[in-house]
Amino acid sequence: MNNLSRRSFLQSSARTAGVCLIGPSALLKSLCADSPATSPDRITPFPLSSVRLAPGIFREQEEINARYLDSLTVDRLLHSFRVTAGITSAVTPYKGWEDPTCELRGHFAGGHFLSAVALAYAASANADLKNRGDELVAGLAQCQQKIGTRYLSAFPTDLFERLAQGTPVWAPFYTYHKIMAGLLDMYVHTGNTDALQIAEGMAQWVREYFVGISSDQRMRMLRTEYGGMNEVLVNLAAITKKQQYIDIAHDFEQPGFLDPLAARSDELEGLHANTHVPKIIGAARMYEVTGDLRYRQIAEYFLEEVLTARNYVIGNTSIDEHWKTPPGQLKGTLAWTNAECCVAYNLMKLERLVFGWTGDARWMDAYERALFNCRLGTQNADGLKQYFFPLAAGYWRAYNSPEDSFWCCTGTGVEEFAKFADTIFFRRGGDLYVNQFIASTLDWKEEGLVVEQVTQFPQEQGTTLKIKSSRPAARTIHVRIPGWTTSDAEVKINGRSLEAVADPGSYLAIHRVWEDGDTITVNLPMQLRHEPLAGDNSVTSVLYGPLALAANLGAAPADGPLRVIHSGDTVPKNLPKPDPLPKASVGSAAQPDQWVRIESKSDLRFTAAAENEHYELIPMCQIRDQRYALYWQMQNTLPQS
Ligand SMILES: [Zn+2]
Repeated sequence: MNNLSRRSFLQSSARTAGVCLIGPSALLKSLCADSPATSPDRITPFPLSSVRLAPGIFREQEEINARYLDSLTVDRLLHSFRVTAGITSAVTPYKGWEDPTCELRGHFAGGHFLSAVALAYAASANADLKNRGDELVAGLAQCQQKIGTRYLSAFPTDLFERLAQGTPVWAPFYTYHKIMAGLLDMYVHTGNTDALQIAEGMAQWVREYFVGISSDQRMRMLRTEYGGMNEVLVNLAAITKKQQYIDIAHDFEQPGFLDPLAARSDELEGLHANTHVPKIIGAARMYEVTGDLRYRQIAEYFLEEVLTARNYVIGNTSIDEHWKTPPGQLKGTLAWTNAECCVAYNLMKLERLVFGWTGDARWMDAYERALFNCRLGTQNADGLKQYFFPLAAGYWRAYNSPEDSFWCCTGTGVEEFAKFADTIFFRRGGDLYVNQFIASTLDWKEEGLVVEQVTQFPQEQGTTLKIKSSRPAARTIHVRIPGWTTSDAEVKINGRSLEAVADPGSYLAIHRVWEDGDTITVNLPMQLRHEPLAGDNSVTSVLYGPLALAANLGAAPADGPLRVIHSGDTVPKNLPKPDPLPKASVGSAAQPDQWVRIESKSDLRFTAAAENEHYELIPMCQIRDQRYALYWQMQNTLPQS
């Protein structure tokens, strides 16, 4: 217990000084996403295979997702790849965005599906899904071999020719990226070396494709969505330690987009959100691999800007898939078509990368906000996923169909729900970071350390960490003290309270010799608070801890076309107009406890006094089959700050 006196309370900002400068030659040593970092300053995730979810809300959702993945068959996924390669396929193809006539076909079948089964194998040792992935990789290898040019896609190269000629085409490189990323995930998470070989061949094809294309022509082509082509090529370079893939990744850079961000200028208005977040993830990885600080500055500014000036209460951004307003001006943007789910998936990837450079708790607060509010809850009991996240009042959740949609968000959704364990714990040297409060177990084999996290969070306002150690060892364990908690947050070591805890919004660093059986108990009181809509103080949302609270407006439409969309469309047909926002009984200056009452902390039940009635409020992630409202009209307007 004496070691308690050695605790230090590190403000996360102090960590930002440690900039990681790696020269290009050093970089290619280690940069696959889950490998140990070469930089002592970087905080990195554990391999997904080191962390297991314990029974709880996240594991339940992981299992539902795995059952959905298991319902898909390899031959049907391979259909359009085989047809493209001239290999006979007599099966019934999937529909929607995987239909043999859709220009995005292959994005899910040979891309997201591969990523998801690889992640599922790493996260939960799901061998059946791994086998499915291996079969699919073998089928793809056959197709690539038959084509003979190292090209691999579920559509012919005509689409790339149209891209080069400037003839309208949907997004051939977007699809190509998904396939390459799926193959790399199969290599990284399951060790499938054929997958790596196929991906390298695909990268070579890209290099040859750009030969003879002028810089001007390439810039014009890059105006068509290309997903994370730069990211996957940087990842390939990191895995293979081959500089040539960095060179190809540079071919996917657009100075017109990146330069204003480097100058800290928000020129995002009018841009398609999910086209652009992956480009920043690519820039972030380029920083990690080349050490070029300009890429880091771009990524940090972009993330900060989107999260502060363009974000909604659920932790996601966009309307009609775009940024359509000046920064900080979201007034009048609440609709069905808010916050495409893919955008949250991509922002969260960026948040965990930027956190790794800075150790700043704000990025893990943001990650938690998105995780609990716009990821958890976006899958139904059949494993179907949402596309948009309606934020206008009176709407409900709608999902893709099992075999007739295959949206982008179906794809990022099956990945997300397979990798909930990837951000709970991070490490730096022998230090441990506890980022997220999710029931789970970390097995840190190199250090002989097992950490069991026992929690019912968010029904429980805190967590307990149980240390199992084969040998006592001095190390620092950093626990996130979220920005949403109060000054009453408390941490106990083996039942004894620390005299002080780090400020909300930072990490508490506890240094001591940890012994087998030690426990850390973290109590994080939640409180109600308002968060106005950016640019409109007369409209507010209510949070409790990290949870956005939704007014329960009664039953959603019965199962049918308004709930499950059986086509490639992303919005149900014949949507009614939204309701007016419910009116709070108080003015904008009121405190939330003047009109919102906590009925049960453990059940997370609340009531709100509105103008003419009382509403039940529940966490948004618990909204299933109800219509809901996340924003309230207040009685008067505060002066704009
Ligand atoms: Zn999407």
